Amino acid sequence: MRNTGIAPTLTLAADEAASLLAGAQDVTLVAHVQPDADALGSALALGLALHQRGATVRVSFGAPEQTPESLRGLDVAGLIVGPEDVPAQPDLLVALDTASRDRLGCLADRVDTASAVLVIDHHATNERFGTHHLVDVEADATAVLVLELLDALEVPLDEPIARCLYAGLVTDTSCFRRADPNTHAVAARLLATGVDSEAVTRELLDTHPFGWLPMLATVLGRAQLEPASVQGLGLVHTTVRLADMAGVRSEEIESVVDLVRTTSEAEVAAVLKEMQPDRWSVSLRAKQCIDVSAAAAEFGGGGHRLAAGFTADGTADHVLHRLRTALHHAPRHQAQPRHGDISGSSGL
Ligand code: 5GP
Ligand code: MN
Repeated sequence: MRNTGIAPTLTLAADEAASLLAGAQDVTLVAHVQPDADALGSALALGLALHQRGATVRVSFGAPEQTPESLRGLDVAGLIVGPEDVPAQPDLLVALDTASRDRLGCLADRVDTASAVLVIDHHATNERFGTHHLVDVEADATAVLVLELLDALEVPLDEPIARCLYAGLVTDTSCFRRADPNTHAVAARLLATGVDSEAVTRELLDTHPFGWLPMLATVLGRAQLEPASVQGLGLVHTTVRLADMAGVRSEEIESVVDLVRTTSEAEVAAVLKEMQPDRWSVSLRAKQCIDVSAAAAEFGGGGHRLAAGFTADGTADHVLHRLRTALHHAPRHQAQPRHGDISGSSGL
């Protein structure tokens, strides 16, 4: 988190990234698999700006096949293409909100074949896998970094670009609950272009099909509290089974952790989402002091200190058993009376 202005090293990184982009004729922007509003909004905002400057631009992500419904409205210029339409050897590849190469899924190989790779990200676990990096772990969202880049490129902000960035801020800060002063200042600039904050937030977070309610009843009904887990700070967990997912979108599945994490008796919340039998995508959230990204890293995952995730194989009981052990050893920080490096409502 940053309270006062922008670090000089970051300004330099933004200037270098801007020079790289200013001369580019063909740019491929990629978000992590299962993109959230920060990943896709950041890619689309930068994509729109470069498109307006006359570059050939495409935006893509490795999975799923369809763009999440709540994010489709951000793509006003039709920049999103499937992974099959991403060139085998891109000129300039820009990876957004992506901490490691493998998080690009089936597009990871483009990191090796692209002429240049610009990584724009705010994850503490970023592996700096590109040729150029605009990485600031203090930034509340990748969208904040993209705005710094747009400023360096002297791109005038318009409403569609601002809306994409605002979407990233909303989700990664849990609706500005954990936004630092700089992020609030950024939001004010974005709103000044005419972004309808209420409409953007409703579309992203407050709109669900009716099937969400019975799904929640089942999934929350099987939640369990383990007060002695996590070094005595408490763990709450539940599973979302394939059978629970019928008739709901990824948005509904990703919403579960935001409800489970409100449990007052637990520092850490875990939601195990069944991707296929005996394969789980796990979302972790901490309230204040446990570094869940360290626990996720033990499974090959990553994320932020207070919001992280990983994929694991085995039965739910087996994954939970390993998770309890990882959380038992996870670093414990002093609680900080500030907005954390958390990835927001749907994650980060
Ligand atoms: P979510 O729980 O919302 O899916 O993700 C929370 C945070 O953890 C995000 O910053 C996301 O990028 C990261 N994350 C989630 N799943 C994985 C994973 O399988 N691998 C890695 N490296 N990071 C993940
Ligand atoms: Mn993010």
